[in-house]
Amino acid sequence: MSKEKISIIVPCYNEEESLPIFYKEINRVSKEMKNVDFEFLFINDGSRDKTLDILRDLSKKDKRVRFISFSRNFGKEAGMYAGLENATGDYVAIMDADMQDPPEMVKTMYDSIQNEGYDCVALYTKNHKDYSFIRKFFTKCWYKLIGMISSTPQVPGARDFRLMKRKMVDAIISMGEYNRYSKGIFSFVGFNTKWIDYTAPGRVAGVTKWSFWKLFKYALEGILAFSTTPLILAALVGLIFCLIAFAAIIFIIVKTIVWGDPVSGWPSLACIIIFVGGLQLFFFGIMGMYMSKLYLEVKKRPIYIISETENGK
Ligand code: UDP
Ligand code: MG
Repeated sequence: MSKEKISIIVPCYNEEESLPIFYKEINRVSKEMKNVDFEFLFINDGSRDKTLDILRDLSKKDKRVRFISFSRNFGKEAGMYAGLENATGDYVAIMDADMQDPPEMVKTMYDSIQNEGYDCVALYTKNHKDYSFIRKFFTKCWYKLIGMISSTPQVPGARDFRLMKRKMVDAIISMGEYNRYSKGIFSFVGFNTKWIDYTAPGRVAGVTKWSFWKLFKYALEGILAFSTTPLILAALVGLIFCLIAFAAIIFIIVKTIVWGDPVSGWPSLACIIIFVGGLQLFFFGIMGMYMSKLYLEVKKRPIYIISETENGK
């Protein structure tokens, strides 16, 4: 009987320092897991350092190493999708190149799938050594918020690091949306997932690619992709304001009939106009954000463009 195969997908963006360390470690782990075959699929996401050279070298030395090099930086989400689409394994794992997702864990994850009947084993972390206090605080608030407004549950602190069975991978690939928010997609497709808590170590080398602004946009992506509550909220607030205005009109009519109508109160009127105007713009903005996502989705642009693979250009 032929052995089962695990594909390890590694999105890489400027990881020249981490890659050799990562490869050494995952290679060691793969040798210890004698009853399975491995495929290492690296996605070079438009790196500007020597990442691609390292990958070319590795693929020449080790036939299990494959790579896909993008024509530019498309983002980690695109990298993961390309990996999932092109992986050939019976099981697929997604891992960071910076050793924050310890390769050693693959053994435990594979055992859980084999012996405990899970379809997927995923990791979450309560304690992120690399993160500043502010990032931890905002992350916590964000998970609370998404928990309230989205019907797709999300595990706080979930990493992208997970090992999945082929059927789950196929389900994820079938969700070919352009605006990708994988944490939501993983949860949307369901399947029996085991969650393991672990403390994410710091990066082995290099720096995180996520600036505060990038993270903010990613968080917004998560809300727009998996919740329409902001639109409902906009409609509700609009309705409440209409009711208040209606009550105010009745009040003013009654007041005028009973006490006459001295012209006064224009400052408050100005404030109300500015406030309501601002509110309208705010909700137009929210609608606009959904529309812009729709616009990109309708265009059906490719999620990634390949410029080179291990088989040549
Ligand atoms: N990454 C990528 N494309 C990007 C940004 C990041 O492929 O545009 C990769 C990166 O090389 C790493 C993984 O995604 O392997 C996670 O990135 P990072 O370590 O910067 O994120 P963090 O662990 O800080 O959340
Ligand atoms: Mg990292």
